[in-house]
Amino acid sequence: FTRLKAGLSRSTAKLTDGLTGLFTKRKLDDAALEELEEALITADLGVAAAQRIVTAFRRTRFGKEVGDQEVREALAAEIATILEPVAKPLVLDGAKRPHVVLVVGVNGTGKTTTIAKLGQQFREQGKRVTFVAGDTFRAAAVEQLQIWGNRTGCAVVAPAKEGADAAGLAFDALKQAQAQGTEVLLVDTAGRLHNKAALMEELRKVVRVMRRLDETAPHSVLLVLDATTGQNATQQCKVFGEMVDVTGLVVTKLDGSAKGGIVVALAEEFGLPVHAVGVGEKAADLRPFSARDYARSLLG
Ligand code: GDP
Repeated sequence: FTRLKAGLSRSTAKLTDGLTGLFTKRKLDDAALEELEEALITADLGVAAAQRIVTAFRRTRFGKEVGDQEVREALAAEIATILEPVAKPLVLDGAKRPHVVLVVGVNGTGKTTTIAKLGQQFREQGKRVTFVAGDTFRAAAVEQLQIWGNRTGCAVVAPAKEGADAAGLAFDALKQAQAQGTEVLLVDTAGRLHNKAALMEELRKVVRVMRRLDETAPHSVLLVLDATTGQNATQQCKVFGEMVDVTGLVVTKLDGSAKGGIVVALAEEFGLPVHAVGVGEKAADLRPFSARDYARSLLG
């Protein structure tokens, strides 16, 4: 178990590290199942998903000799079962002009970059796209979105001055998009105000004001979560879910050594669609979320 322990002690351990050597021809007894559960929790799958998987293993394989490969395959299958119901692409309602996507999340999770990535994908489908720089208090965020707009061929509606009213900006942008027949409006939002109540009020105001122009807006509310923050992502999902009606997730920074197990924890706990995953800093680095491929990639 030396390798297993080494794997677990590394903070960026992937699930596969935790499993290495755990089941080299070993009887699946209580101790082995306990270690499996621990490896799953360490890999960020969360207690609920870990227990569900271990229960399934107990039911089908308890007392049997199992090998490494068999465990990996069985694990991938169990994980895919958890992920399948949430693997759903973001589908635009073609009847909406524009389809409004409100993008929420804590600063630094990758909201702006995700907007750029989505914008690029919609542009590739020949759609007209506008970004709204609704994080009006952060000049850098506004500037960044403008750069992305230029790069991806998307229009950008930015505040006239720092700290301008985000709801007013969203209203103007939606009105303009309706007049111009824009297909997709991607609205960036603040990720942090001085407290949770203020942020909630801001987000709700943006929603309320846009509904004056289109009572069904926003048609999607995407929460962007950073996989490298591990269980913090679960907490953010809970908090933002209390503030707005989140309709789907984008999980970012799954490139490099990120512990992708958090996606399994999110699926088990919230059951929200995972529309896509971010795998880099470039506009092309957004991938559709496939339950089977993802489960397999977690197992190395
Ligand atoms: P925001 O504050 O939520 O708008 O976050 P940004 O979009 O500005 O992203 C914060 C940082 O994370 C930037 O340096 C991005 O380049 C980086 N980033 C965003 N998405 C990804 C991703 O999928 N992978 C990696 N490696 N970096 C990302």
